[in-house]
Amino acid sequence: MLITTQAKPQANTLSSRGMLIDGQWSDSTSGARITIENPAKRLPIAEVPRGNAADVARAVAAAAKAQASWRKVQPRERGRALLKIAEALQARSEEIARTISLETGNALRTQARGEANITADIFLYFGGLGGELKGETIPLGEHVLSYTRREPLGVVGAVIPWNAPVMLAALKIAPALCAGNTMVMKAAEDAPLGVLLMAEICQEFLPPGVLNVLTGFGAECGGPLLNHPGIAKLSFTGSTEVGKIVMRAAAERIVPVSLELGGKSPSIVYPDADEDWAVDGIIAAMRFTRQSQSCTAGSRLFLHEDIFDSFLSKLEKKTTALKIGDPLDEKTDIGSIINNKQFTKVCKYIDEGLKRSDARLVFGGLPPRTGPLSEGYFTIPTVFADRSNDWRLAREEIFGPVLVAIRWNDEAEAIRMANDSHYGLAAYVWTHDIGTGLRTAHAIESGWVQVNQGLGQVPGMSYGGYKQSGIGREFSLEGMLDSFTQRKNVTVNLDIHHS
Ligand code: NAD
Repeated sequence: MLITTQAKPQANTLSSRGMLIDGQWSDSTSGARITIENPAKRLPIAEVPRGNAADVARAVAAAAKAQASWRKVQPRERGRALLKIAEALQARSEEIARTISLETGNALRTQARGEANITADIFLYFGGLGGELKGETIPLGEHVLSYTRREPLGVVGAVIPWNAPVMLAALKIAPALCAGNTMVMKAAEDAPLGVLLMAEICQEFLPPGVLNVLTGFGAECGGPLLNHPGIAKLSFTGSTEVGKIVMRAAAERIVPVSLELGGKSPSIVYPDADEDWAVDGIIAAMRFTRQSQSCTAGSRLFLHEDIFDSFLSKLEKKTTALKIGDPLDEKTDIGSIINNKQFTKVCKYIDEGLKRSDARLVFGGLPPRTGPLSEGYFTIPTVFADRSNDWRLAREEIFGPVLVAIRWNDEAEAIRMANDSHYGLAAYVWTHDIGTGLRTAHAIESGWVQVNQGLGQVPGMSYGGYKQSGIGREFSLEGMLDSFTQRKNVTVNLDIHHS
């Protein structure tokens, strides 16, 4: 089948965007809209439709219609469409990066450009995998041919968060479409603009209805999507709390579900790593330059007692040198928190830390109430020390730049504390001794452990959570096969003329 270029976006100015349904840009059936704010300035920048159940129904109908022919497009041909999308995304990466920065408050130089680039890379990676949707033959003897086919599931319902919105959208769209599914995605209400821009680029290379992107609130628009009988698979990235709602909806209709959820990831520093490279690594792992609004933030810092104070003083020196300010300014390292709700939540945790007589503020604290930083939802990197792993700040996902430093002197105890969490997404180990590093990595209950680095995910990794951090993997070839295909076995009797 020929993949043709489809509808040009109409009402898509930055100040007013539509949702993508059946290749067309559409308002909500209710006509209601959501105002999108620039969190660094607390100013409105755009309006998007406030989608509801009727819009979900329209989008699912379009995706179901498109599914009948998309699943029959040769897999490598589907891959080629993704490769063209990758190229177009790369060509417009600066525009995507600026949009991400404007709506999320993430700094352009340190975060948003990287997100735009990896988004193109994700399409590039999955675009090459069409030919890998292979089945197997089963050796049942000379007179039987038994084989498996990797078939698409149908219409995938996807719901994503705001913290790395475009990258997280790409991580669902690319593997799902490569495998022959169509999709209805609900973007996060706080950051839909970059996702809509990406959808606009994708739509240039896809038949109508293959990808549909809705905007709207969680329960009002995401809820009907989770529960729509036309959805064959649910793929969710977001909080563990909402992940449970998604799983309940999946259980109700027995549809498969992938969940990429929250984290409270440990960093374990051995005494031989009291050095600058490890401090840089801790800053990267804590995602301080993304205001720590990252599911993989290494937010529990287990420091060996011999290096506790010296490591923290190095960390203070380097972290406080980072520049907080206008996300679009090239000199800025750290931007703003996404919205008032998250800002207030982060401040409450800091306030609680400040009030505890048994916790020590190492550096940071509550955000300034006057001056340029008070114009947006800016927070400052904050580190508390001297309490153990058992208080609220060490147990709950803050999703803001609040790091707790915890002392240890016995490796087994450090690992026990690291594992004493209902989360298990990421972890970081810092040591020159590779044996120690790997022993610790193997003992940690997390889906992704990095030794001596604190980098972000790379397409091809088997990325996903243990425990309440999630179920399933989507980031890789095997993620695509496991999460976006179902296997059919066909068994043929080759002997009918002789029986
Ligand atoms: P959230 O769970 O509040 O919202 C995520 C999405 O779910 C949004 O689109 C929201 O509108 C929607 N939603 C909310 N309630 C819903 C409902 N009742 N029915 C259907 N949809 C609903 O999360 P958030 O605050 O947007 O994002 C932060 C969370 O995401 C953190 O917990 C973070 O750790 C997690 N996260 C995980 C990963 C990962 O890969 N594991 C990546 C990024 C973020």
